[in-house]
Amino acid sequence: MSEIYDLVIVGAGPAGITASIYATRAMLKFVILEKSFAGGQIINTYEVDNYPGIQNVSGFDLSNMFTEHATSLGVEIKSEDVIELILDGPIKKVITSNGELQSKTIILSTGAQWKKLGVPGEDQFTGLGVSYCATCDGAFYKGKQTVVIGGGDVAVEDAIYLSRMCEKVTLVHRRNELRAVKVLQDKLLKTPNIEVIWDTELEEIFGDTSVEGVKIYNKKTGEKTTLNVSGVFIAVGTSANSELVKDQLKLDSGGWILTDEDCETSIKGVFAVGDVRKKSLKQVITAAADGAIAVFASERYI
Ligand code: NAP
Repeated sequence: MSEIYDLVIVGAGPAGITASIYATRAMLKFVILEKSFAGGQIINTYEVDNYPGIQNVSGFDLSNMFTEHATSLGVEIKSEDVIELILDGPIKKVITSNGELQSKTIILSTGAQWKKLGVPGEDQFTGLGVSYCATCDGAFYKGKQTVVIGGGDVAVEDAIYLSRMCEKVTLVHRRNELRAVKVLQDKLLKTPNIEVIWDTELEEIFGDTSVEGVKIYNKKTGEKTTLNVSGVFIAVGTSANSELVKDQLKLDSGGWILTDEDCETSIKGVFAVGDVRKKSLKQVITAAADGAIAVFASERYI
């Protein structure tokens, strides 16, 4: 019979990596799996300025610091894609691209992914002017005009970031009030080459071989306008990477995993941490806190 782990951690973003650090210190027999790159969504954030004790750091550098901390303690992040999870019973099964693992507890830190708008031209021009990551693709638009769609922290951060290299950035938001934190709003509204268009939605992205512009419409007046831009950055939120467990765990209507205060899901011994779980504040610091809490709870469960 194959060995039975105390814990399998699925996903190596800030929540999963923190869990691996705590699991090492708790001397649990565990493994951490990641299907692509360690670091999570934060690697695409150009600046993190709300993680105590670390100033002026990019998301990429902060996530590297997390990973280096874990590896310095002996953690090895295994590159394996989880295909199926069988969560009922005292021993959970994790089916991966490499075989099957058995574990007493599971921590799901699978995060979230960018949402699409579903407008004409979005799929056609993805990678040809349509992007979901300003820090990844912004440099391609040096001296050009771009548009950012959304009104949350990510959209506002993206607009500010792009304003440093683009001639002009237009932020298009569907309401007349931003969702982003005040400090970002202030920065945005003070940046001279950013224009905000309120109460407006994106209707279509057009072009020939790459993006040449967008059609937008004002929801209050019905007025339609064309913006000639070469880049469209879509930042309208994220959806949970909960597909693997959607038929086994309780989720809310948006697909986020429901947990108790110990990050325990509707199945005993199965925990969800970081952005994949339903919670009010999704940031690196709360992801890291979840990872710590879940390991503490899984130790008690074992
Ligand atoms: P978000 O906070 O959910 O904001 C999504 C934005 O997109 C909202 O303004 C929303 O408009 C708009 N939107 C959603 N669907 C739309 C549609 N179909 N058409 C047009 N607009 C649409 O998502 P986020 O900005 O990606 O942030 C995700 C999480 O990460 C949040 O919890 C955020 O606080 C956190 N975060 C924090 C930081 C930081 O602390 N520095 C940085 C980045 C992200 P409405 O406002 O009208 O709903």
